[in-house]
Amino acid sequence: MTNKDLADLIFPNITKTIEDYEEMYPKRDLPDDAVVTRFAPSPTGFVHIGHIFSSFVANKVAKDTNGVFFLRIEDTDQERIVDGAITNILKDLSDYDITFDEGMVSETEEKGSYGPYLQSKRKEIYHTFIKHFLENGMAYPCFCSKEELEEIRTAQERRKDRIGYYGRYAKYRRTPIEESYNRIKAGEKFVIRLKSPGDFEKKVTVKDLVRGNITFPENDMDIVIMKQDGLPTYHFAHLVDDYLMRTTHIIRSDEWVSSLPVHVQLFSMLGVNPPKYAHLSPIMKDDNGTKRKLSKRKDPECAMHFYHEKGIPTEAVKLYLMTLANTNFEQWWDANKDKTIDDFKFSFSKISKSGGLFDMEKLNNISKNYLSRIKATEFYDMLVNYTKEYDKEFHELITKYKDFTIGLLNIEREQKKPRKDYASFSEVKELVWYMYDELFEKHEKIYEFKDVNDKEEILKLMNTYVEKYYDENDDQTTWFEKIKCLSEEFGYAREVKEYKENPNNYKGHVGDVSMVIRVALTTKSMTPNLYDIMKLFGKERILKRIKELEENF
Ligand code: GLU
Repeated sequence: MTNKDLADLIFPNITKTIEDYEEMYPKRDLPDDAVVTRFAPSPTGFVHIGHIFSSFVANKVAKDTNGVFFLRIEDTDQERIVDGAITNILKDLSDYDITFDEGMVSETEEKGSYGPYLQSKRKEIYHTFIKHFLENGMAYPCFCSKEELEEIRTAQERRKDRIGYYGRYAKYRRTPIEESYNRIKAGEKFVIRLKSPGDFEKKVTVKDLVRGNITFPENDMDIVIMKQDGLPTYHFAHLVDDYLMRTTHIIRSDEWVSSLPVHVQLFSMLGVNPPKYAHLSPIMKDDNGTKRKLSKRKDPECAMHFYHEKGIPTEAVKLYLMTLANTNFEQWWDANKDKTIDDFKFSFSKISKSGGLFDMEKLNNISKNYLSRIKATEFYDMLVNYTKEYDKEFHELITKYKDFTIGLLNIEREQKKPRKDYASFSEVKELVWYMYDELFEKHEKIYEFKDVNDKEEILKLMNTYVEKYYDENDDQTTWFEKIKCLSEEFGYAREVKEYKENPNNYKGHVGDVSMVIRVALTTKSMTPNLYDIMKLFGKERILKRIKELEENF
């Protein structure tokens, strides 16, 4: 009896060979440096920032090199599958412009000629490879029950040996073929294990594109490659899929580094070169002075809907991910303000080895910079989208007063040093509520008057200003000149300098008067350019605000 007899017994219907599949999925016709890479999540229903990060990097590398980026769904662990997970993954990723050239496009459909891209649909392919391993004595059936595995473990603990199924502990490694054959024929349950040729005393060195050379002991574990349910384990599926899908680069999170000895061994047993590996360090968080991984349980910023709800523009998140991905990106972006991420060339050697530290303040700053550089109309459109979902009241106002809102968003924009007011769309309303009468009426009003805070004086100043000086059509220079005249009339210096030279001659200076006007109209002592605000208001609203002041201050 030979290995082939055993293989035929286990897989009677597998008639294809590895060569058949190699022909079906030929080497891709791409330039030499084109990167073929993938995102290979399990459909567990939760997309976290780590997924976005690694797929963002993989997508970028494929794009930069005119390669291929595909989505493979790793659903061999049937217990962890969640309904609608693929749709979820696709949506969360496309929000960040992470799109695929091949792979799953919905729960059931896919595109591309290297599929199926859903592992559960690849059973026959896996079986062909497992059959090949069996025929060549590189795998064997194992009949261990839970109890037997427990016994092995107890013995290892007692002897202080390494835990696992290997060497002398690999109970069925040396079982005669005939015995295995008969047990399977009799209907006994089994898994298939790799007959590892590795020697734990020997070392293997693997080159990682992020970490450089990593040296491990060789793998000597006879890992399970096919489970009782007939599906392969992750490690074996990775071998088959990334080989047949002609993946050139595996870009994934570093929790898989420890699997490298198994993965390179599998490729070598198959007699083919492994792809290149790049293991990305996880995004870390400073938790009261100690660095730890971002946690799904503890950190809301781990889940992508957090950024949605806060209204942090996706482009800002992408820019932030890029700064985490390549340490030289930020400087580049600063020097190339009109360029986008697409113009930047990603480099594996510029990835931080220690893992980026998630820094909300930094993300906010990047977001502020980004939002200050876009056009008001673009900002407006995004704000409309955001408020449509998260703030109905504000949505109604900004769509009702569209031009007014765009005008407001345009204040001190499109200039060399634009204002950087907003880090997210959720903050906008709280920063500009005083611009809208509807919001002004119901908002709590705390007038932030400074040095000049006498109600009578303020009202007198405001009334005189409107009656005597204010003209809607004035340009900014004339407008300011008139505020100077108003100042003079009321005993305030026209210039700050004059006041400083003779403080006793004046009640204050033109700055104090401008402050009175600013606070009287908006309640706020800090606002964007007052001239622009008043221009948007027009006379009627200015009069209304003075009346409000009279009643509320
Ligand atoms: N399915 C694995 C995961 O969920 C993929 C690992 C890999 O990219 O090789 O992370």
